[in-house]
Amino acid sequence: MTAAPIEAGCHGGKAELREAARAAGMNETIERYAADYPLGPHDQPQSMCPAFGSLRVGLRMRRTATVLSGSACCVYGLTFTSHFYGARRTVGYVPFNSETLVTGKLFEDIREAVFKLADPDLYDAVVIINLCVPTASGVPLRLLPKEIDGVRIIGIDVPGFGVPTHAEAKDVLAGAMLAYARREAEQGPVQAPRAGRTERPALALLGEMFPADPVGIGMMLEPMGLAAGPVVPTREWRELYAALDCPAAAAIHPFYTASIREFEAAGRTVLGSAPVGYEGTAAWLEAVGSAFAVPRAMVDAAKDRALPPIRGAFERAPVRGRITLSGYEGSELLVARLLVESGADVRYVGTACPRTPWSEADRDWLETRGVMVQYRASLEHDLAALKEFRPDLAIGTTPVVQRAKEMAIPALYFTNLISARPLMGVAGAGALAQVVNAALANTARFDEMRAFFGEAASC
Ligand code: SF4
Repeated sequence: MTAAPIEAGCHGGKAELREAARAAGMNETIERYAADYPLGPHDQPQSMCPAFGSLRVGLRMRRTATVLSGSACCVYGLTFTSHFYGARRTVGYVPFNSETLVTGKLFEDIREAVFKLADPDLYDAVVIINLCVPTASGVPLRLLPKEIDGVRIIGIDVPGFGVPTHAEAKDVLAGAMLAYARREAEQGPVQAPRAGRTERPALALLGEMFPADPVGIGMMLEPMGLAAGPVVPTREWRELYAALDCPAAAAIHPFYTASIREFEAAGRTVLGSAPVGYEGTAAWLEAVGSAFAVPRAMVDAAKDRALPPIRGAFERAPVRGRITLSGYEGSELLVARLLVESGADVRYVGTACPRTPWSEADRDWLETRGVMVQYRASLEHDLAALKEFRPDLAIGTTPVVQRAKEMAIPALYFTNLISARPLMGVAGAGALAQVVNAALANTARFDEMRAFFGEAASC
C-alpha cells in the first residue's frame, strides 16, 4: 500500500489523491466512478462532504450498522451533520495514523471492528465507508469477508475526489446493496417484504422522497391495476429484494446510475422523469402504462383521475414572479417544471447533479420553455444567474440565499423548504405554490428595507 498525503482533502490535492488511489490499486473504482458520475463540462460543485450521502442511507436503515474509516476531522464533520439531521444512531469509527495506514494495520483494525459488530441478532448488514485518505491509500475493503454469521458486510469507497456530490454517494451505497441483494436473490429464496407481497404488479421508486409522495404515486397507479413498490434507498434490507422484484423502476431522482445498473441487470425497465405537474404526470402515466403493457382504457382512467385535480390546484394557487432555482438534491428540474406550470417565470435551474438519460425529458421540456438548465452547477453559475436575471425569488443553497438576501431579493432554501414538501401529483401542485407565494409576498418588505438602507443594504 502507498501512503497518501494525509493533509490533502476536500480543500485541495484532489488530483494527487486520485493518482495515489490509482497507484494503490484502486484504479477500477476510480474509473467506475468517473463513468457513473461524470464531471464536466464543469468542475465538481461546492457542497458538503459527499460521503454524507452514503452515511445517511446506511443510518436510515433498520438493523444496519455503519462504520467510517477516515481522518478524524472528516468523521467529526460527518457525524455532526448526521446528528444535525436527527440520525439518532451510533456511527462506528476506526481511527488510524500514518503508521497503521502504511503498514496495513488499519485494514486489520477495520476487519476486527467488523467481526466485533457483526451480530446477527442485531444486524442484517454492516456498512464500512472508506473516506478520502483510506481510499487514496488503497485500504482494500473488498478483502473483507462478504458475510459474517449471516450479517452482510458492505465495504464502499466514497472519496470526495471520486464521487462528486452527496446525492451520488447515496447511489454508491444503494447500488452496492442492490448488487448484493440481487446476487442473493439469484442464489435462492429470500425474505418477503414485512407487509407481504403486493397482489398488483408494483413500480419501484428510486430517490428519497417526501413520505406522502409514494402514497400519492400509489393512488395515481391504482386505476391501472398497479401499485407503488419500495422506495430505494430502502429502510430495511428485505425491501431490496421487493424492489428488484418489481417489473419496472421509476428513476424519480435521475442520478442513481449504479442502482439503475442493478435494476437493468435484473431485467427491469427503468423510466425517467416523474409525475409532476399536469404535463409531467400525463407523460409519466403514459410511460408507466407502456412499461407494464396496461390497456389504453386503464391508462386513460388513471389520467382522468389524476390530471383534473392538478389543473385545479394550479388554477387555485398560481405563482406570479421571476424565479431562479438551484440545489444539490437531484429534484431541481422537477421543481422547476412545477413552478413553470404554476405560472412562474423560471429563468434558470442549476443542479449539482450530472446530466443523465433519466432527466432528459425534463431538460427538454424546460429548455423548450426558455429555461436555462445547468448541470453540475457551481456556486459561481448560480450567482451569475442571480445577477443576470434579478429574480423576484431565488431558491437555492445557503450561499445563494445569503447573496440573494444581500441583494434584497426574497429567497428560499431548497433543501429545507422545497424538498421537504410533496412534489408529485395534486399534492405537489398545491404545496409548492403555498411556500413560494408566501416568500414572493416578502418582496415589498425587501423593497422597503432597500429604500431605508440604500447602498448599505447590498454592500
Ligand atoms: S472525506 Fe469528505 S471531508 Fe474528508 S477530505 Fe474527503 S471530501 Fe473532505
